[in-house]
Amino acid sequence: MDSEKRKSHATESQGNAPASIRDLAQRHQRFREEIFPARKSEFLKLATKQRPQVLLITCSDSRIAPELILQSEPGDLFVCRNIGNMVPPYGEMLGSITAVIEYAVGALQTKAVVICGHSDCGAMKGLMHPETVEELPAVSTWLRNGQSARQIAIESHPGRNENELLEVLTEENVIAQLRHLETHPTVASRLRRGDLELYGWIYKIETGEIWTYDGQQERFVLLDSQPASATRPVRRRAAT
Ligand code: ZN
Repeated sequence: MDSEKRKSHATESQGNAPASIRDLAQRHQRFREEIFPARKSEFLKLATKQRPQVLLITCSDSRIAPELILQSEPGDLFVCRNIGNMVPPYGEMLGSITAVIEYAVGALQTKAVVICGHSDCGAMKGLMHPETVEELPAVSTWLRNGQSARQIAIESHPGRNENELLEVLTEENVIAQLRHLETHPTVASRLRRGDLELYGWIYKIETGEIWTYDGQQERFVLLDSQPASATRPVRRRAAT
């Protein structure tokens, strides 16, 4: 990435106060007047087509900025966000998430799907303590997609304190959602052909690190460009 492109990312702190609509309008004006003209040819190339390599399914949490933490560019990521980075098993809820997966994996032919959870996730807290989301019926219903992760976290990790259990639940939830992902026909078919890779990540807000699930070691390891095992997919092809 050249320095001009790098400058266009919101890498400078914009201050700690969350942006208001007026703030966003000002920033957009800067984008339109300074950044867009400097990168116009790039945007024109993207104006009529996209070929993203990666479908990223992550939480709606405002503290996750995929383009910033992955230093990605327009056209790189096809992004699907929801509360708790959930993927309902195929057939249970034929809604938005199912359509996104079908379109990205089946039509756009993304090479990889990443499910990315994160630290301090409100959805994981709600999943752990269902009584706290009783007044939010849609959220309560949605969080049922993480029920198997909750049960595994509680029953397989006795004696953990609240914070440790939340961390375990966040990891188990990513693993559970990867399993759900494999029930989607387009994903199952591409896995069978051996041309789709699945990854499970956890983003740590306080350190900026991403940890990736290594299916061979059955644990999360720091995502890094080296060694190769740090970018090993959870799944590449279905068992024969
Ligand atoms: Zn979250």
